[in-house]
Amino acid sequence: MNFETYQKVTELCQTHNARLMIVTKNHPYESIEAFIEKGHTLFGENRVQETESKWEPILSEKQNLELHLIGPLQTNKVQNALELFDVIQTLDRPKLAIKIKECLEKSPARTTSFFIQVNTGEEPQKAGISKSEATDFITFCQQDLHLPIKGLMCIPPSEEDPAPHFSYLSRLAHHYHLPEVSMGMSNDYTIALENGATIVRIGSLIMGSRT
Ligand SMILES: *Cc1c(COP(=O)(O)O)cnc(C)c1O
Repeated sequence: MNFETYQKVTELCQTHNARLMIVTKNHPYESIEAFIEKGHTLFGENRVQETESKWEPILSEKQNLELHLIGPLQTNKVQNALELFDVIQTLDRPKLAIKIKECLEKSPARTTSFFIQVNTGEEPQKAGISKSEATDFITFCQQDLHLPIKGLMCIPPSEEDPAPHFSYLSRLAHHYHLPEVSMGMSNDYTIALENGATIVRIGSLIMGSRT
């Protein structure tokens, strides 16, 4: 872990009115603890199962932590995810949205809001709703299902200039009056901040490489 970088990134986020999410996937709790003790509260994980074993004991103990799911969600894991995460950033298809709605009606949830993931690069292997379907899907989630949609999220194609993807996502969020725009990782977070990110998701730059 790299506190100097952590400090630097935190300050840059503050000047852009954005928040830093530390992505802790593949890192044990022992590596995360120091950031919690420094007062950091926003963390991201990409797997439900890994998050259950790693975070469940801590979440009940520390009240102010905010945990976001940033990896793909299977419908059979929705109930568990709703009990674990404050925000699910990877809502990306009608079937998943309907399942979430059903689960929310049946039992209490920790999750208070959702971001819609947009596949801005239209990459077939990547999660996210396609650009052409995004507007209908946002409307469906908001107006038909009444889900609390608070933002958009994207992961641009790794081999492309991310700036157009980031500015597209910002504009789409503005259009729908969604306050949160989750974009930018270790390699491109400065570009994301310049293009309107409100949350940058940073793993390796701060936590070191994942094994
Ligand atoms: C792993 C991951 C990150 C962090 O990636 P780094 O390059 O390590 O900063 C951000 N967003 C998502 C969706 C991820 O899966």
